[in-house]
Parts: sequence; structure tokens; C-alpha cells
Amino acid sequence: MSLHEIDLQIDQGAEVLRPGDEEYDDAARVFGATGRPALVARPRSPDEVAAAVAYGVRHEMPVSVRSGGHSVLGHGTNTGGVVIDLARMDAVEVLDADRRLVRVGGGAQWGAVAAALDPHDWGLTAGDTTSVGVGGLTLGGGIGWMVRRHGLAIDNLVGARVVSADGRLVTASATEHPDLFWALRGGGGNFGVVVDFDFVAQQVGNVHVGRVAYLLEDPVDLLLRWRYAMRRAPEELSSTLVLMPELPGSPPAAMVLLCYAGEPGAPVSEADAAIEPLLELGTVVEASVAERRYADVLEDAHHPPGIRMVGRNILAPTLSTDLAEAIARLHRSPGPAAVAVRSLGGAFGRVPAEATAFAHRDAEVLVVCGLMVPADVPDAEVEPMLAPWQDVAVHGTGTYLNFQGSATPADLAAAYPPATYARLAAVKAAYDPDNVFALNHNIEPAGRGAVS
Ligand SMILES: Cc1cc2nc3c(=O)[nH]c(=O)nc-3n(C[C@H](O)[C@H](O)[C@H](O)COP(=O)(O)OP(=O)(O)OC[C@H]3O[C@@H](n4cnc5c(N)ncnc54)[C@H](O)[C@@H]3O)c2cc1C
Repeated sequence: MSLHEIDLQIDQGAEVLRPGDEEYDDAARVFGATGRPALVARPRSPDEVAAAVAYGVRHEMPVSVRSGGHSVLGHGTNTGGVVIDLARMDAVEVLDADRRLVRVGGGAQWGAVAAALDPHDWGLTAGDTTSVGVGGLTLGGGIGWMVRRHGLAIDNLVGARVVSADGRLVTASATEHPDLFWALRGGGGNFGVVVDFDFVAQQVGNVHVGRVAYLLEDPVDLLLRWRYAMRRAPEELSSTLVLMPELPGSPPAAMVLLCYAGEPGAPVSEADAAIEPLLELGTVVEASVAERRYADVLEDAHHPPGIRMVGRNILAPTLSTDLAEAIARLHRSPGPAAVAVRSLGGAFGRVPAEATAFAHRDAEVLVVCGLMVPADVPDAEVEPMLAPWQDVAVHGTGTYLNFQGSATPADLAAAYPPATYARLAAVKAAYDPDNVFALNHNIEPAGRGAVS
């Protein structure tokens, strides 16, 4: 097929935007980044996805695959390449109501998914932000409000249809292309374009969500008391302890964000009993807990203007006293840095490490640092500003790549133990031997290179 024919095919099929088109500027922009791609394709079918991939391959252009456009590294756009924007492939379809089996388009956003499942009293544990995409969040793992109750988003995934680098439509599940299915659950967007995901939704009634703010007296004591409470908490309760730095107009602060997702129809007293210990961690200055539909819990997020958020994270098997002290030092550093410590365990921890490409199932907590620096600070100046983070980072045995604001060989090595990485590289070689899908936390096809 000639380049001219491919151009015709893509023009007649997928909606295509090029520089100068009315919607192009919006289409070139993602959360926190702006690119200047040669073309943005908005396919509506697997065939149109395959045509867009073929276009990128034939023209030897970088290919971005975009779902919700919230990649923290701006991978959903590029300069000079092709963007495959899956926004038109966002349907949520019930395949089997008895099994709560739902098919979700690869370009759907989590707020819309929660709204579509709500009338059935179903939900899917995913992120906490409406506009984050099902594609990127799921392929990286997906840590949300019900992680201790229902695990990661991938733990509820039973199948996916993928357009591979050579344009084939492949179904991946426990029985079909099981190696690919394993890799999709944590290996990111390395293996093809997922046109839809099949999930088993959970029965979700009302959830109890809230926020408890404490007088910031002794962050180490607060962290250790929170650890004690969460180790005894039922897995219906997930929570995140947040330490906010001093910002113009607001003093440093400490708070716990919580979500209790019990059995539908369970008495409120069960939620109250689970939440009560979090009200006793320190001097409470403000507390609000409300019963809400799960679909109403997700919120939208906006990138703060003029600020660059530099994200780093670790998965730690234990929230030790040493780690709590390192977190407190980071919080006090001039950064300024916000630190969020998410509780894990429960259903998250019951999945064997080798069952999915997300391997760090023994983690007690995910510690996320968001360093807030002026947008114009060059990269070379950012790294020294992260020095206080290094004291925290040494306590990690893993990294969650979806929150990681850097993409280095060390990040890949932290995310994937050697055996996991070797298996991912072998799957990559089978489904994308020429590394067409490289704008991501990139796994080199086996035989071409390895993580150092
Ligand atoms: C404000 C904000 C809140 C967040 N909250 C959470 C949270 O609560 N929990 C959590 O776990 N993570 C969270 N994240 C991190 C989030 O999971 C990642 O940033 C994720 O990559 C975003 O997915 P996306 O589809 O929106 O992004 P995109 O930029 O569209 O995609 C990210 C990458 O995923 C791949 N990809 C996306 N869709 C497909 C597809 N259909 N087929 C193949 N590859 C694909 C591509 O490699 C792409 O570069 C948050 C991020 C932000 C910015």
C-alpha cells in the first residue's frame, strides 16, 4: 500500500486533525503538557485504529496513544508524530448482567464509567479523578478509593481487545494470548492499542467518604498512629494520609482522606465503627464524613497554573519509624513538597506477585511526593531539589509508574523485578518487535536491550 493510499485511508476513516484545523490546538494539548503532533487521529473502530498505527509506522513517526490524556509525563501528545486519541471509543456496555461483565472503551474516562455503572449499583475501583482515562490508569495498575476492598483496577480485568503493532486485532484473556493478558496488567501501553477492556464490576452501594484534618503537631507520631489504625482496619476502609507544605495563604497541614465501601445496605454503624479510630489519631481540627454514591466521589483535577508538579513515589513493604521520619523531613524541606501516603493491603495484597505485571503486592503503603516548582525551572535544577526525597526513596522496594514523573532505566528496574521485566520484554518482542509503542515507560523488546 502506498503512503498516498494510507493517507487516503486515514482521511476517509478516522477523524483526523492537522495543524491549522480548528480543534487542533486543543487536540495537541493534554493534562500538564502541550505538543505539536503532525496529526491527531480520532478513530471510532479497531480498523481505524489499525490504519492510524500503520500511518505512524509507514511515516516512521513517533506514536502516542491517548485515553484520558493524564500521563504525568505528557506521553499522550508528542511533536512531529501521530497521536491516536481514543476519545471516540468510550462506550460502556453491559455484556452479561448476571456476571456484572462490562466492556469499556479504551478511551473512556473514569467519571463517565462510574456514572454508567451507578444505576446498576455497580462500580469499578479505579482512580479518584473523573477525567483520568481508563486506558492509562488500567494498563499501569490503577489504585483507587476501594483498593483494599477490591484491589487494583487490573484485578477486576478479565479481557482486553488489542490492536497490535502489525494491525491485528487480538483478544487477550486468561485463555487467549494469556502472556499478553498478563503483560497488559501493569506493563503499560507497550504492547498495542487496547480498544476495549472487559471488567467484572463490583456491587457497590453507597460509600462513606470524608476528610479529617489534624493539628500538625508531630507528623511522625501521626503517621505511626495512622499505620496502627490502618493495620487493624477492615478492608472496606481505604485511606490516604496527606501532609501539605506551607503555601502562600495556607499553613502546613495534615489530613486523612478516607473511603469506606461496605456491603450494599449495610448499617451505617459498621462504617462509623471502621472510621472512628481515624478520628482519634491527633487533635482533630475539622472532620466531615458523608454517605454518597460512589459515582459522586470522583472529582475533576486541574493543573495548577504556573506550577510544575514533579512526582516521585515508592511502594514500601512497611511504614517503619525510619520511613515516617524521612517523610517528616521531606515535608519540612523548603521544596515545597506535598506527601501522600496511601494505605494498601487487603485485596491488593492477596494477588500473587507473579499473577500480573504489577508485582509489588507486599507493599503496605504507596508514598507519593509532589514537588511543586515554578513551571520555568529547567530539568537540571529540579533534580537537586529532590534531594530530601532520596531519604524516603531508600525505603522503597518498588515504584508505581503511573505516578512517576521520570522515565529512566532505574524507574523501570524499580517497577519491575528482574523476572517480571524479562517476561515483559519477551511479550514486547512477540507483539511489538520494532517498538512502535515507545512513548511510555518503555520496555525494549527482548534481544534489543535490557534494563540496567
Ligand atoms: C490528576 C491526576 C489524578 C490521578 N489519579 C490517579 C489515581 O487516583 N489512581 C491511579 O492509579 N492513578 C492516578 N493517576 C495517574 C494515572 O493513572 C496515569 O497518569 C495514567 O497514565 C493516566 O491515564 P490516561 O489514560 O488519562 O492518560 P494518557 O496520557 O491518555 O495515557 C497514558 C499512557 O497510557 C497508554 N495508554 C492509554 N490508553 C491506552 C490504550 N487504550 N491502549 C494502549 N495504551 C494506552 C499510553 O502509553 C499513554 O501514553 C492520576 C494522574 C493525574 C494527572
